[in-house]
Amino acid sequence: AWRPDDDDDQRRGSSGPVRVRVPAKVNLHLGVGPLRRDGYHELNTVYHAISIYDELTARRGDTLTLTMEGEGAGELALDDSNLAIRAAHALAGYAGVLPHARLHLRKQIPLAGGLAGGSADAAAALVACDALWGTGLSRDELAGIAADLGSDVPFLIHGGTALGTGRGEAVSPVLARPTSWHWVVAVADGGLSTPAAYRELDRLRAAGTAGTPLGSTDGLLGALRQRDPRVLAGCLGNDLQDAALSMRPALADTLKAGEAAGALAGIVSGSGPTCVFLARDAADAQRIATEVAEAGVCRETRVAHGPVPGARVG
Ligand code: ATP
Repeated sequence: AWRPDDDDDQRRGSSGPVRVRVPAKVNLHLGVGPLRRDGYHELNTVYHAISIYDELTARRGDTLTLTMEGEGAGELALDDSNLAIRAAHALAGYAGVLPHARLHLRKQIPLAGGLAGGSADAAAALVACDALWGTGLSRDELAGIAADLGSDVPFLIHGGTALGTGRGEAVSPVLARPTSWHWVVAVADGGLSTPAAYRELDRLRAAGTAGTPLGSTDGLLGALRQRDPRVLAGCLGNDLQDAALSMRPALADTLKAGEAAGALAGIVSGSGPTCVFLARDAADAQRIATEVAEAGVCRETRVAHGPVPGARVG
């Protein structure tokens, strides 16, 4: 195996900083099936990458280090528990190189928000270190390493709109017309734990108080082939929403505020507590974002569009 600090190999990879931008995800459809023997639930989901980004810069270094600014700075551990560091180690192990890099994260994706920010950072670190070290893995090889890091990580390598099966790690692109959808993202104060949301759903189901499971993604996939956001609005759904509402009842007020502001639909994103609203167009999204922010039912609102590409250099 070549080493990034061998003179000969300085030409491989990048000597300058590599900057990677990676989006947040929302689940347009999150169907949660039965609990598997490995502790994961069987999922049937449609992922959608939206224009809220984390940015990871990788520079050459003598060890592996991580610094950060933005969302969650000062709260998030920067040690081996951080998904960006775990991703760099996993890639180095796979490619047989030394895991030496100085990583810096500019985070805009809220922590534990149901937008897969940690998974996004893992995807960004894989793509950035692959370019820095010149390991030149294919997207499919990177997606293979990604799957071991977390169920959402392969999707954040690919981006766009994609079907996720298994525990979410098996991703295939969704063929859709080249349409942009416009979203309002209501960021909550504080996060929700994803494992806790799944446990709460199991509890609600055992008690018979969970909603009817969503089932097939066919309706949503059909809606994505049309350009009409009103059709898409009728097909959004999230089996984890009841669990998120049960753990954080105030989210019902956030969803109501979006509805009152004229959003076509509103759902909890993933395990929450972030809520996303579908708007008619960019101007409508801006207006809804202002109105929901003024209602005082969340920390802040942001507008976003999707689909956007996954983790990319540049
Ligand atoms: P998902 O939608 O995939 O369930 P989430 O958006 O709810 O994820 P994340 O922000 O991805 O939540 O992170 C969940 C937890 O992962 C955090 O609370 C933190 O303990 C851990 N974590 C590790 N590395 C990171 C990272 N780089 N960014 C954010 N969280 C990280």
